[in-house]
Amino acid sequence: MTTTVIPTEVAIVGAGPSGLLLAHLLAARGVASVVVEARSEEYVGSRIRAGILEHSTVDLLRRAGLGDRIAEVGDEHRGIYLQWPGERHHIDFQEHVGRSVWVYGQTEVQKDLVAAAHARGQEIHYEAADVAVHDVTSDRPAVTFTGADGTSYRLEARVLVGCDGSFGPSRAAVPDDVRQTWERVYPYSWLGVLADVAPSTDELIYAWHPDGFAMHSMRSASVSRLYLQVPNGTDVDTWSDDRIWDALATRLGHGENGWSLEPGPITEKSVLPMRSFVQTPMRHGNLFLAGDAAHIVPPTGAKGLNLAVADVGVLAPALAELVRGGDSRLADAYSDTALRRVWRCTHFSWWMTTMLHTAGDPFDAQLQLSQLRWVASSAAGAAGLAENYAGLDIGS
Ligand SMILES: Cc1cc2nc3c(=O)[nH]c(=O)nc-3n(C[C@H](O)[C@H](O)[C@H](O)COP(=O)(O)OP(=O)(O)OC[C@H]3O[C@@H](n4cnc5c(N)ncnc54)[C@H](O)[C@@H]3O)c2cc1C
Repeated sequence: MTTTVIPTEVAIVGAGPSGLLLAHLLAARGVASVVVEARSEEYVGSRIRAGILEHSTVDLLRRAGLGDRIAEVGDEHRGIYLQWPGERHHIDFQEHVGRSVWVYGQTEVQKDLVAAAHARGQEIHYEAADVAVHDVTSDRPAVTFTGADGTSYRLEARVLVGCDGSFGPSRAAVPDDVRQTWERVYPYSWLGVLADVAPSTDELIYAWHPDGFAMHSMRSASVSRLYLQVPNGTDVDTWSDDRIWDALATRLGHGENGWSLEPGPITEKSVLPMRSFVQTPMRHGNLFLAGDAAHIVPPTGAKGLNLAVADVGVLAPALAELVRGGDSRLADAYSDTALRRVWRCTHFSWWMTTMLHTAGDPFDAQLQLSQLRWVASSAAGAAGLAENYAGLDIGS
């Protein structure tokens, strides 16, 4: 079979938020890229995942010309509620750190990125099979794949960027004697549901309960996103809609202090296992890793998508300097710079997760309640949560 060779400056594996945003930021700096994606554009665009954008993410997207719809349909929140049986407390991020967050689904971010990619004529190969990366320590690394039409392609670039999530080939292209990994698997999962009902709260509720954690989030004025802590290995079919609404009502405190939870038709349910994972370094030769390809966080701290954005926010100017200006200093510093934020967010996500999920140990439960009371009653405690949740400056 003949192979079509495509020369470019940056080859990007993965057209999720990190891959498409990187291509966008590179194009703004005049750097050409080609993206290769295993799935279809529709499939990638419809995956229900993250829903909270940090202050710094919104800032970056606005500066990149991607902020119009966030302003139009996004919902700015000044904080979150923390609660445990009988008590609900508002943690006001604006008051503590002068920053807010935005409710704006990953599907919307993806929509904006796809529209911008179409508008500038970005080359993206969807539904690529047998994607493999080659010669990553050479000056001409390559990505090979079979296109949707059966054609064999070889992308030859100055650098490769693995934006291919946890299951793509890029992470594994770093040799075992170079890479180091850290992992924590949590003894519980989230059952997440989307429901066609107006949210029963103006801002997110994070609830500690002896039966397990629950969270009330939202996607819009008419769509609620709700989560329940469930044991690992839970079969989603064992959770009927009634059972879900009953558990949510109990754990979120329906009927307490005049608050009520409005149930509605559930349109999507899935079980999400929880883990923390980091692979270092985030660069090997001319292969760079960004987003979930390098790190995974449990969703309790709302950091996964934001970290992916922060990585490429640091990487795009570094690659532009490397490819266009021949200056490697920012690219050489990329892994260390990105990992400072990765570990901060890994810690914050672990902290939120272990503070709010119950694992059956009565001693741990008392420590969790003590920690929650401290965060809710101390300005220093609340400011720490607010600063981490609303997000630090990208590159700091
Ligand atoms: C089920 C789920 C729920 C989540 N919920 C939340 C949440 O509530 N809050 C939060 O902050 N974060 C959440 N996250 C995390 C967040 O969605 C991710 O951190 C974010 O998508 C990372 O973006 P990314 O572009 O790095 O990776 P991804 O979005 O995973 O994109 C990687 C892309 O690479 C493609 N790919 C994979 N293999 C190949 C291959 N061989 N060749 C070519 N392309 C390939 C994939 O198809 C995908 O499109 C969730 C993640 C999952 C999986």
